Amino acid sequence: MTYSLIVGNWKMYKSISEATTLINAIKAGVRAATEVNIAVCVPFTALQAANEALQGSKIDLGAQNMHYESEGAFTGEISPLMLKEVGCRYVILGHSERRQHFKESDELINKKVLAALKYSFIPIVCIGETLEQREARQAFEVVKKQFEGSLAHLEAKDLERIVIAYEPVWAIGTGKTATPEQAEQMHSYIRRLLIEKYGDDTASKVRILYGGSVKPDNITQLMEKPNLDGALVGGASLKAESFIQIVTNSTHLSGARGN
Ligand code: PEP
Repeated sequence: MTYSLIVGNWKMYKSISEATTLINAIKAGVRAATEVNIAVCVPFTALQAANEALQGSKIDLGAQNMHYESEGAFTGEISPLMLKEVGCRYVILGHSERRQHFKESDELINKKVLAALKYSFIPIVCIGETLEQREARQAFEVVKKQFEGSLAHLEAKDLERIVIAYEPVWAIGTGKTATPEQAEQMHSYIRRLLIEKYGDDTASKVRILYGGSVKPDNITQLMEKPNLDGALVGGASLKAESFIQIVTNSTHLSGARGN
């Protein structure tokens, strides 16, 4: 039996000492949480310290990006082997901030996803439409294109190790959350895409997270929806109190799926 998943995305925040303090507080606060998997995706510079601070806890460590080659002349990049060495289990790939500011394409993201699987990470693959696309009624088309492009060349067995995060760009860092109904509509659409391509059994094992202004006071309603298997949390993961509350409020609510 596997559980829902709550992931903190710390983005470009927290020094090494701040990361250690935050992890110690989260560890203490989520000790009693059951039936939920938890991960924190911290900045590269804090990974080593975070790995040490997480020892003895059930919280997993993740990175926020990764190159697809194991080593080479790629100035400024970080390799799968380097992330393995510091204890990462998860890696966020194709976050909208990387698509927007660093022009990451579905093709590039797909190379990273394939590399993540090769090195036994659990990739958290982000997809989601912008406000303009939603207003132009292109949300489903955009999500389908990102889904097909980012997850190309995968077999059913690979899918069981993948987490998809639906993150409508208009809801990220804006305080404007998708309603539980809007989120469920897109999550069930993504589930249908999975069923069409990989069959019911595989599709039912893939965890689809929602991301976009998740807070302690909206997580419960979101998690009550059948196709929401967890959350990718940005801003509210930077404070122990709110992250702990999100974890606590999602415990026992979601079904058993995934990796
Ligand atoms: C994110 O960074 O993936 C995110 C969803 O951010 P926020 O929760 O701040 O909207």
